[in-house]
Amino acid sequence: MTTIALAGNPNSGKTTLFNELTGSRQHVGNYPGVTVELKEGTFTHRGEPIHVVDLPGIYSVTAYSLEEIVTRDYLVQEKPEVVIDIIDASNIERHLYLMLQLLEMGIPICGAMNMMDVASSRGITIHPEKLSKLLSIPIIPTVARTGKGMEELLDAALAMKDSPPPQPLRISYGSDIDRTLDRMEDRIRGHAMLQGRYDPRWFSLKYLEQDEQIMEYCKKHAPEIAQAFDEGYQQLLKHLESTLNTYPEALIADQRYGYIKSLVSYGIVNYATHQSKLYISDKIDLVLTNRFLGPLAMVAILMTLYKVTFTYSEIPVGWFEAFFGWLGDTVQGLLPPGLLRSMIVSGVIDGVGGVMGFVPLILFMFFGISFLEDSGYLARMAFMLDRVFRIFGLHGSSVMPFIISGGIVGGCAVPGVMACRTIKSRKERLATMLTAPIMNCGAKIPIFAILVGTFFATARGEMLFAITVISWVGALITAKILRLTVIRGESTPFVMELPPYRFPTLKGLCIHTWERTWQYIKKAGTVILGISILVWAMMTFPLLSPEKEAFFEEARQEILASHTVEDASRILDYEIPEEELTPQEQEIQKQLLVLKGRRAEEALENSIAGRMGKGIERVTRWAGFDWRTNIALLGGVAAKEVIVSTLGTAYSLGEVDPEEGDSLSKVLKRSDEWSPLKAFSVILFVIFYAPCFVTLICIAREAGSWTWGLFALLFNTFIAFLLSVGVFQLGTLLGLGV
Ligand code: GDP
Ligand code: MG
Repeated sequence: MTTIALAGNPNSGKTTLFNELTGSRQHVGNYPGVTVELKEGTFTHRGEPIHVVDLPGIYSVTAYSLEEIVTRDYLVQEKPEVVIDIIDASNIERHLYLMLQLLEMGIPICGAMNMMDVASSRGITIHPEKLSKLLSIPIIPTVARTGKGMEELLDAALAMKDSPPPQPLRISYGSDIDRTLDRMEDRIRGHAMLQGRYDPRWFSLKYLEQDEQIMEYCKKHAPEIAQAFDEGYQQLLKHLESTLNTYPEALIADQRYGYIKSLVSYGIVNYATHQSKLYISDKIDLVLTNRFLGPLAMVAILMTLYKVTFTYSEIPVGWFEAFFGWLGDTVQGLLPPGLLRSMIVSGVIDGVGGVMGFVPLILFMFFGISFLEDSGYLARMAFMLDRVFRIFGLHGSSVMPFIISGGIVGGCAVPGVMACRTIKSRKERLATMLTAPIMNCGAKIPIFAILVGTFFATARGEMLFAITVISWVGALITAKILRLTVIRGESTPFVMELPPYRFPTLKGLCIHTWERTWQYIKKAGTVILGISILVWAMMTFPLLSPEKEAFFEEARQEILASHTVEDASRILDYEIPEEELTPQEQEIQKQLLVLKGRRAEEALENSIAGRMGKGIERVTRWAGFDWRTNIALLGGVAAKEVIVSTLGTAYSLGEVDPEEGDSLSKVLKRSDEWSPLKAFSVILFVIFYAPCFVTLICIAREAGSWTWGLFALLFNTFIAFLLSVGVFQLGTLLGLGV
C-alpha cells in the first residue's frame, strides 16, 4: 500500500484535507510514548489503496518541540512514499519556510496550495504553477474545505511514488557557512551513522543549527566527529560574531527567508492592495533591484569601485615597487655575478616582487568586494543578473561562481569552480565551470594593471571596467556557444537568497579583506616562488656554449682595446652618472651595452623557454605576440601571476638599458615590440585563454573526467587566440593603436 503523509504548519488545513480524503475510515491514536495525536486512515484513489497519515503541525523541522521531533522522526524513519506539504495560500511566505526545510531533507514533496478561496477573497493572486517550476515539484491549488483540487492533488502525489527520491534542495547560506558545511559534509559522507537515511549535508546543517537531537545522536554514534563539529561550530560562531555580528542559526534563518523572498518575487504572489508595511531593506530594494534603476545603480557602484581602487592604491603600489627595485639592486651589489645572483635577482625578487607589488591594489579591491558582500548587495547583483544568465543557457546559481572567480574583480577560479556544486543540472554546471575562469581572477589583475597603466594611462578605471564587461559578455557568449553545441539541454529554474541589508562592521570588513589578501600573499610566497624559479631556470638553461661566450668576450676586449682610456673599470660602474664620463668613455659604454644586450638576448633565445617561445612565434605573430610574450603566456598556464614576473624576467635579462631595476612598465613603453594595440590583444588573450593549472585540475575533478580539463585548456585557448588575432589584424588594418 502506498503511504502518503500530510505535513504543514498548524492550521494549514491538514486535518480538513485528511477528513476529506478518508471520510470515516480513520482512527486516532497517539504516537508511541508521547501524547501527540496521530491520525491514520485509508482510502482508495483510482482503485489504488492508500494509507494516509496526518502529521502534527509544525513550523520547522528543527527538534525544538515535541511535534517537530515526532514529525521529523516519522519522515526520516518511516519514509512515506510521498509527503503532501500543505501551504496556506493566504500566508505563503511563512508556510514556505517549512517547505524549504522539507525539501532540504531530500524527501519527495508534493505541495498543496490550500485556502485558495481565502487568498482570492483577500485580493491575493497566487500562481502555484510558477512556484512549482521554481522548486521542481508539483504544487496543486486546493480548497480542502470544499474538496476542490483533491483529484489533481492525488494524481500528482501518486505520480511521484515510483520515482527515485529527489536531490535535496541546496540553499546557499553565505560563503562562511557554506564552507563549513562543505567540510562537515565531506567528513560524514557515507558514514554508517547516517544509515542511508540522513542526507549528510542536511545532517551537517542541523548540527550548525544546534539541533539537540542530531547533536546527541552524533555524539552517541561518532564522538570524534561530534567533537570536530563542535569545534567547527565554535570557530564559525566566533568568525560570524566578529565579522557580521550574528550567529549561525540566525544567519541560516535569514538566508532561508531571503530565499523565500526571492521565490515570491518571481511573481508567485500578487497583492491587489499594496502591502503597507515595508522594512528598510525592502525600501532599499525598491531602488537597487528595480528593473531599470537597478542595473544603472550596479554599473555606477562598480565604476566607483574601480575608480577608487585605482586612484588610492597607486601610491602604495609605488612604494612596493620601489622597495623591490631597491632590494634587487642591493642584492645585485652584494652578491658576486653568477648563476646564484641571477637566480635570486631575476627569479626570486623579480618574480615574487612582481606579484607582491600588487598587494595594495588587491587589498583595496578586496575591501570593496567585502563591503558589497557583507552588506548584502552582492546577492542582489546575482539576483538581477539571473535574468540575463538565463538567456545564455546558464543558471542563476552560475552568478556566484562567476563573481567568486573574479566577476567583479579579483577572485579565484578555483573556489569559483567548486562553488558550481550548488548548480543541480549537470549541463548548466559544466557550462558554468568552463566559463567561470574567463572572469578576472586576482592573478590576472597585475598584468592588466601594467598594460593598462602603460598604454591606456588616461583611462585606467574605464579600461578596467571595459575589461570586466568584455569578460562577462565573452563568458556569456561562450556559454551560449557551449550550450548550443557540446552541452545542449534544458534550463532549470532558479531561486536566490536575498538576505536583509546590513551595515558591514569595520572589523568584519577588515577580517574579510585580510583573509583574501593573505591568501594572495601566501600564494606569492609559495607556489609562485617555486614557479618563478622554474621559469627562471627555463629561461637560463641551457647556457650559451663556451664558443659563443668566448666570441662575446673577444668582442668585448676588442671594443675596450679600440679606444685608449685611463681606467676601464669606470665605464661599467653605473654609480657614476653618465655626464661625468668623457665622451670617449660614453661611446665605449654604449657599445658595451649593446653587446651585453645582444648576449643576453641570444642567451634567452637559446634557453628552453626561448626555444619554445620562438617555436610558436610564427603562429602567434598573427595576434601580435613576440616570443618573449609567448614565454610569459606559457608560464601563465602554470599560474597567471607568473605572466608579469616572467615578462619582467624576460626583459630584465635582455635589458639593454643601464638603469637596472627599471620598472617593467617603462621597459614596455620604450620597447618597439609593444603598442597599445598589442597590449590590448594580450589583454584579450589573457582574459580568455586556458585556466591555470590548478583550475584545470579542479574542473577535471568536479566534472569527473580529464576530458573536460583538457577541453577547457584547448577550447579556451582557441577562443582567446581567435579573438586576439581578429582584434590585432583588424586594428593593424585600420591603423588603430599601432
Ligand atoms: P490543521 O491544523 O492543519 O489540521 O488545520 P485544520 O484542518 O484544522 O484547519 C484549520 C481551519 O482552516 C479550519 O477551520 C478549517 O475549516 C479551515 N480550512 C481548511 N482548509 C480550508 C480551505 O481550503 N479554505 C477555507 N476557507 N478554510 C479552510
Ligand atoms: Mg489538525
